[in-house]
Amino acid sequence: DLAVLSSPWSLGPLRLRNRVVMGSMHTGLEVLDDGGAAMAAFYRERAAGGVGCIVTGGIAVSDEARGGPDFAVFGVGGADERFRVAVDAVHDEGGAVLAQLFHAGRYALANGMVDRHGRPQRVVAPSALPWAAARGVQPVALTDAEVRSTIDDFAAAARSAAAIGFDGVEIMASEGYLVNQFQSPLTNLRDDEWGGDAERRRRFAVEVVRAVRAAVPDLAVTIRLSGADLMPGSTTDDEVDALVHDLLPLGLDAVSVGIGWHESRTPTVQASVPHGAWLAHAERIARVVRASAHPEVQVIASNRMTDLRDGETVLRDRQVDAVALARPLLADPDIVRRSLDGRFDLVNTCIGCNQACLDRSIVGQPVSCLVNPRAGRELALPLRPTTDPKRVDVVGGGPAGLAAAVDAARRGHEVTLWEASDTLGGQFALAAVVPGKEDYAATVRAARAELEDRGATVHLGRTATAADLLDSDAVVLAPGVVPRRIAVPGAELPHVVTYEDALRDGVPPGTVAVIGGGGIGVDTAAFLVESPDESVRAAEFAARWGVTVADDLVGDLAQRQPAAGRTLRPGSDVTVLRRSGKFGQGIGITSRWVAVGRLRDAGVRMIGGVQEYLRIEPGTLWIRDEDGRETAVPADHVVVCAGQERSPVVEGGPDAPGGAERPGAAVAGAGLAAGLAAAGVPYAVVGGA
Ligand code: SF4
Repeated sequence: DLAVLSSPWSLGPLRLRNRVVMGSMHTGLEVLDDGGAAMAAFYRERAAGGVGCIVTGGIAVSDEARGGPDFAVFGVGGADERFRVAVDAVHDEGGAVLAQLFHAGRYALANGMVDRHGRPQRVVAPSALPWAAARGVQPVALTDAEVRSTIDDFAAAARSAAAIGFDGVEIMASEGYLVNQFQSPLTNLRDDEWGGDAERRRRFAVEVVRAVRAAVPDLAVTIRLSGADLMPGSTTDDEVDALVHDLLPLGLDAVSVGIGWHESRTPTVQASVPHGAWLAHAERIARVVRASAHPEVQVIASNRMTDLRDGETVLRDRQVDAVALARPLLADPDIVRRSLDGRFDLVNTCIGCNQACLDRSIVGQPVSCLVNPRAGRELALPLRPTTDPKRVDVVGGGPAGLAAAVDAARRGHEVTLWEASDTLGGQFALAAVVPGKEDYAATVRAARAELEDRGATVHLGRTATAADLLDSDAVVLAPGVVPRRIAVPGAELPHVVTYEDALRDGVPPGTVAVIGGGGIGVDTAAFLVESPDESVRAAEFAARWGVTVADDLVGDLAQRQPAAGRTLRPGSDVTVLRRSGKFGQGIGITSRWVAVGRLRDAGVRMIGGVQEYLRIEPGTLWIRDEDGRETAVPADHVVVCAGQERSPVVEGGPDAPGGAERPGAAVAGAGLAAGLAAAGVPYAVVGGA
């Protein structure tokens, strides 16, 4: 029952159909030279999915406000015309849309960038202090006159937004961007009207809001504030609350509460961050607003909410008025409609991996979604129902096979999915037992539900043969991957297992050596040392980072595999070994440091620079360490995490090396692909390492 969440919402002059906001996400579509078509298709799909209000990715208020070359600037290069197309698309679908007024300040990734006059891009900030990732770019401290003209830029941008047809604007004052930089003693060392004490540091935000409100008296005006910067020595909670107090009389319609700076070393958006970890800040600010002379100002909560049942809990039990979700709307543009219909089983939940969204965004690549490859490519990959339904067989029920099957079924084809093991999901099902990756099971749950809904046939425990597929119009072979093996003396001993074995069956008590410290090795070690109980881990997270984690937000509980019954051994004595490269290599840039940090916190030993794995004996793994010494690593058990390779069963059948040994191999029968080719059945191979 999402009664509160689905109730109409007044945001200043706007009457919105529900209380779900799509939070701002930079997509890179904003600067495509396509007349705004791709951006419009992206936003149209989300508006059609029922979200009440959309906030665009940040639109720079001036050239020097850009976060990078793929940021649009109001009034430059046809940006306004492109946004007009997108705004019309949202309105067509009954939604409302706010333009986010953006200034990166010292966060501008300006290397090699030029302004519209061909001059090197200037990077500006309250003080001339670069940030760690600035790659040598030194910001210039704004002069007093420039501070004032920057405020004018915000006001002019708001007027542009009104002219384009936006329903309102959101002032970006969070996440460590310019407005936030003015507020913090870490980045504002000025001693003038714009700095020197907390009140003067707040003044820039105050004047921006005042100017924007005056510029667009008929539009909704909201501000995205940092509930906490999560930076040692930065703005305190009391100072944030004081800023809220200063802003409330200025005619703001809402305060949207963000969390953490991009350079913060506190995890905020990674999969291992407990659901609801940051709500306490929105709640605190809501209390400030309600106790003020302007209790009508709306408060929007966000961060680490992936399920609208949690959104409803937040709206019922706290004093906030709406919830903002960003990545969950990349993963499933229909999350609102499906949730309001009670079809939570169909929701393609964001798994918090960051791989196709944040990790790409920060290096200027187009944003998409690991569990929804159409995200950001709605035009290129249109989802048109077929007029000529075919029989489509998909062999292999891992993530690639499931995605292919769901896509074919959505287009109206008659789909049959064959999976040789008893369960769907492949590597995603395995990943879902890794602490912090429980949401990976949601991808499988959603695909299964949609296939069922659309009448697809799913054969579990059935190995497809060429004979099964002779009548097919098209076959998709999704063989998946198998663990890569290692050629080390003793690798055949019974206490040596693959990561698949370890994650599926657990590892008995004793010391463990994990060979391979890439993403899989790090995940496997986490599985060995961390509690499977999410509430225990949430308490550990709260203690480690000094935060109050809401205990009533749980994500999609129904998909959770019961912790009891799994053979887990939290607190094990584990050593992870790596020959070269960084630990956790392969994990995206925004998540790797968190994953490796968790292992360090848990006391996992990490030995890098291993020259050679010499031999495995009962109880010991012998290595040549980085200094060339023969060294014994305690190892009652050895787990091999040496990467993956595409299952050999497609090309070579079970007789190929390793082909018959993979439990649950999706495809068997020597030369299935060859059999299909001989019979003239069209097929394609997808997925795999
Ligand atoms: Fe969520 Fe991962 Fe998709 Fe980003 S790429 S929206 S984190 S599932």
